Amino acid sequence: MESEGIVIRIKTPVGDMDSSVDSPSHLNFNDLLAAIKDVMPEATVTAFEYEDEVGDRITVRSDEELKAMLSYYCNTVMEQRINGLLPEPLQIFPRAGKTPGIRNIHGLKVCASMIVSAELGMDWLCCVPLIEKSIEVKTLCLSINEHDLQYQEQLGHGNGGTVYKAYHLLGKRIVAVKVIPLDITVELQKQIMSELEILYKCDSPYIIKFYSAFFVENRISICTEFMDGGSLDVYWRIPEHVLGRIAVAVVKGLTYLWSLKILHRDVKPSNMLVNTRGQIKLCDFGVSTQVCFNLFPVTIFAHPERISGEQYGIHSDVWSLGISFMEVVGMGSNLFFFYPPLLQPLQLLQCIVDEDPPVLPIGQFSEKFVHFITQCMRKQPKERPAPNNLMDHPFIMQYNDGNTEVVSMWVCRSLEERKSQQAQRLM
Ligand code: ATP
Ligand code: MG
Repeated sequence: MESEGIVIRIKTPVGDMDSSVDSPSHLNFNDLLAAIKDVMPEATVTAFEYEDEVGDRITVRSDEELKAMLSYYCNTVMEQRINGLLPEPLQIFPRAGKTPGIRNIHGLKVCASMIVSAELGMDWLCCVPLIEKSIEVKTLCLSINEHDLQYQEQLGHGNGGTVYKAYHLLGKRIVAVKVIPLDITVELQKQIMSELEILYKCDSPYIIKFYSAFFVENRISICTEFMDGGSLDVYWRIPEHVLGRIAVAVVKGLTYLWSLKILHRDVKPSNMLVNTRGQIKLCDFGVSTQVCFNLFPVTIFAHPERISGEQYGIHSDVWSLGISFMEVVGMGSNLFFFYPPLLQPLQLLQCIVDEDPPVLPIGQFSEKFVHFITQCMRKQPKERPAPNNLMDHPFIMQYNDGNTEVVSMWVCRSLEERKSQQAQRLM
């Protein structure tokens, strides 16, 4: 892609102007701004915008933001090619220097509320005879039903359900659809319902966007924002300077949830999603996690107090944060194991409760990072950092620089590597 030319379409009030760029990797912000000024000599253009896969406008004001836009575009082109489509030009929207009027950046209207009740599905009624009152789930005005979705591929399978990538025909966007079978206990069904309410309440750049939910036969489908980088559990030994930026977003996401009095309860790499724009978002918080805990309670992300039956709190999320980051920097390295491998489930539980918490090997990681992880994984819950202390920790402060490009480049590179490895395996 680096060596291939691209076409940039400058959208102006009087029409579109296409401009081909032979070597996008050498393009800089000022050159592009100069090209825009040539096309729009009357206006004082200081920045421009592009649209992401869900139609949100992203502003570009610097070389770094330009690079993030190009790597996002590069990935979109790859996806279009894989799907047999001709790449569309990169569309940019010049922005005048003066503050624009109030605008709806998301292009979405919060409107109708969706009543999730017996009225919406007889099967639901049959399955949930004990739900006395209907539960109202307000949703963004992106009402989705099964017929509007073109399922493309399975993204993964967890303990609660299966996640698919799908194209929403009406909304013209890719979404992730988590399909959860409903022939489960009433308690569990209630938990899933309240997860929907939690999703609706959340509005943060660090939390996955909830679009809609619907029922078909014995399953519920929950449609959310699709993250083209997938989850952190499939990445290979994340470098510390990348993980630092990821940690900032995860801590901000958790702090946001905690401010709404929501505990995540299932902080782990597979519930941290990334995209080629360099965004990091948390998913699967709240309730369906209870399902997983009941079915598969024994994982290395379980914290001591969970096992010994003490109260779950913010500190428990903090422990899981620590061990998740340990996992993603060491994954695949065989350099260290937190706990002896291949333990029987009960032995693993015993280890987590009895043994000293695992520590990162000193020398291979920065002192700030080792300290951060050690603090998060203090055995006594109260000794772990409180939300404010997490944000103020030197490791988090060091990487709280808003540099999305680092993560964006790393995601794009990793995806390309993964694709070429898959291609080699097929040869
Ligand atoms: P658990 O069921 O214990 O939470 P899990 O997180 O691995 O385990 P799921 O939540 O069902 O299982 O997710 C399965 C996989 O689907 C994830 O590992 C992730 O790679 C992918 N996935 C989930 N949500 C999205 C999304 N919004 N965008 C892209 N990929 C996603
Ligand atoms: Mg999950």
